[in-house]
Amino acid sequence: MTGSPRTSPVWHPFCQHKLEPVFKQIVGTEGAHLIDEDGRSVLDAISSWWVITHGHRHPVIMAAIRLALERFDQIIFAEYTHEPAEELARGLIRLAPSGLAHVFYSDSGSTAVEVAIKMALGFFHNRRALRSRVVVMEHGYHGDTIGTMSAGERGVFNAAYTPLLFDVDTIPFPAPDREQQTLDALERFCRGGNVAALLIEPLVLGAGGMKMYSPRLLTEFRRITERYGTLMIADEVMTGWGRTGTLLACAQSGITPDILCLSKGITGGALPLAATLCTAEIFDAHLSEDRSRTFFHSSSYTANPIACAAALANLEVWREEPVEERIQAIAGMHHDRLARFRSDRRFVNVRQQGTIAALDLAVETTGYLSEVGPLLRTFFRQRDVLIRPLGNVIYLMPPYCVTVGDLDRAYGAIEEAAGFIEKAAR
Ligand SMILES: *Cc1c(COP(=O)(O)O)cnc(C)c1O
Repeated sequence: MTGSPRTSPVWHPFCQHKLEPVFKQIVGTEGAHLIDEDGRSVLDAISSWWVITHGHRHPVIMAAIRLALERFDQIIFAEYTHEPAEELARGLIRLAPSGLAHVFYSDSGSTAVEVAIKMALGFFHNRRALRSRVVVMEHGYHGDTIGTMSAGERGVFNAAYTPLLFDVDTIPFPAPDREQQTLDALERFCRGGNVAALLIEPLVLGAGGMKMYSPRLLTEFRRITERYGTLMIADEVMTGWGRTGTLLACAQSGITPDILCLSKGITGGALPLAATLCTAEIFDAHLSEDRSRTFFHSSSYTANPIACAAALANLEVWREEPVEERIQAIAGMHHDRLARFRSDRRFVNVRQQGTIAALDLAVETTGYLSEVGPLLRTFFRQRDVLIRPLGNVIYLMPPYCVTVGDLDRAYGAIEEAAGFIEKAAR
């Protein structure tokens, strides 16, 4: 960490520049590692904010991008179509739970969710049904646009913008002792009759603190929404592409949502792209000779062909390589290594879902602004491990090429960090 004056004009995301050290430059990436300007190899234990799935610069994906560059740049998608987008749409529908029939492209997780909300509202609007409420889960996160912030947990992140955020109905997080309460709350809202959609992160609430709930509940959510004709939007922007142990988290509950949001790992993390999948029923509700029923949404880079080619290569990696085995191996390693933390009083809520392992440091102040957050980040940085705790929540979400040695180093650093925090507190 240097104390040199800040001269860069760049404004970084989620960054308090007054407190942040001058940023190190990354000069290259390789597998599970980032190489910094000093030539140090940093273990990317959080997949560069959850996007990198197979590892950095996977050769199959890189080759597909190079090849696509020979033929394409951006093409206006409201006028034309192209093979990468067509083939990818068919590929996504094949992988998704059966019942999803259409694919709408955009370019980030936030836009995938915005599109989903607009699809749900448009569905009821076009059917002249008065439904416009959105039900969300406590601690949820769906992005940083005004719409997705409205659907997410309110707090310090969006306090300044609350005057612009729309109202939603919130069901409690289904902690093990309150599962029924959550189901009852959902049923109560849905019964009210004006709920257009339940918007939910399946199995793991990521940015809200890696909070996990059982697949059985997701099945129950589906049952309740179906009963009341409420649409279910599964935000699998983070949970998708193997993170929870299966390609999609929804698969563990055997459910088909009405709308499915994908991004982050859709290109293996190589390029920005998002897809919002929906049922034929939702598409058909927008199908009309009446132009006012059109789905009015687009972004300039919709279905960027290079990004679509990267995503197609990602599908090929899933088809051709033992990705599931790698995921199971990581899940097994987490399971073994987490065992010792369960009996360590300095940690609580030791938990895991597939390739995601999380545990909370037992400290007085919790939450994102918890004092320990920045201390921990500095500590991990010094050990060349990229771990970004969410307050006192420490988690690992490695790319699938991570080795036993890498993970042992990460867990070693976590154990050491607990000792470091203990000392700092004295
Ligand atoms: C990251 C994330 C988003 C937002 O994705 P961006 O690409 O950052 O806009 C939305 N939903 C969930 C569940 C996420 O984890």
